[in-house]
Amino acid sequence: TAKLAGRACYRIYSAVDTEQGRHQQRLSEALIASLKTAPEEFSVVYQPQYHLATGKVAGVEALLRWNHPEFGSVSPADFVPIAEHRGHIHELTEHLVRCLLADLPDFPGNVLPGLCLAINISARQITDSRLEALLGPFFERVRWIGWLPEIEITETHLMNLTRQCLDRLREFGNQGVIVAIDDFGTGYSSLAYLHTLPVQVLKIDRQFIRRLGEESRDSRIVSAILGIAEALDLEVVAEGIENEDQYRKLCELRCHRGQGYLMARPAPWQALSGSLIDQHQE
Ligand code: C2E
Ligand code: MG
Ligand code: MG
Ligand code: MG
Repeated sequence: TAKLAGRACYRIYSAVDTEQGRHQQRLSEALIASLKTAPEEFSVVYQPQYHLATGKVAGVEALLRWNHPEFGSVSPADFVPIAEHRGHIHELTEHLVRCLLADLPDFPGNVLPGLCLAINISARQITDSRLEALLGPFFERVRWIGWLPEIEITETHLMNLTRQCLDRLREFGNQGVIVAIDDFGTGYSSLAYLHTLPVQVLKIDRQFIRRLGEESRDSRIVSAILGIAEALDLEVVAEGIENEDQYRKLCELRCHRGQGYLMARPAPWQALSGSLIDQHQE
């Protein structure tokens, strides 16, 4: 493993001299410039989440978008790690919150009561002293329309959470914020550790949903995750549901909630709200 890790490091450092490395460098500079001077390049799309048994909408996840004049639409899978690496994740979340607060007046709390509104938070940010002040107004506005604020943190970084992080998560929990573990199954949380975390939701990573079919190894893994969740009294969300077979299998396994292109793709709030209200009133 040491050898492999060494090679991986070598690849990262040497990448700066390659075409791809130079592209990375320019993307990184562009991101930092845009974060400072081009708020209009950032927007938020929302992907609904459904109760699988009833097909009713359970909530929405906010996903950040960055549209750059030269690079076009850059995936958060690419720009979030850059922002983390360059120490600009706080500014990124500032744009997220700004966009959310602009959209929130149009959220129909009265027509669709009690939904969750989830945002993704980088594990590194949890102990940032500025986080509370940044997210406070968002939590407040979400509660004001009668919805529940939720934060998703990817499992990969969970094992590194310090005492201070856990305390912060507990504080969020005490304020009625739901805490979810994102991309569950890709990290290394031990059962003993999971038990001590102040979380209420596990989101099963898309890679386990992809090959979910009859008798597949992945359906046994999903089934095991549901068993763990039941023992720990956690809600489970399957992400990346793309076809009817996957949906049916997840219903069979009694997975609680699901999200994916089969039901809805992420979209700007204006494009999504009408159909959510229609579905709700069906
Ligand atoms: P995630 O939180 O696990 O979000 C799910 C990702 O899967 C989203 O990609 C979503 O568009 C995509 N997806 C949803 N349904 C399907 C499906 O059926 N099939 C396939 N193939 N993909 C599906 P997206 O929007 O590109 O985001 C990627 C990741 O970037 C997110 O993964 C999240 O970890 C991160 N991210 C997004 N927005 C933010 C943000 O505001 N802050 C932070 N820190 N991270 C963010
Ligand atoms: Mg997420
Ligand atoms: Mg995920
Ligand atoms: Mg993911």
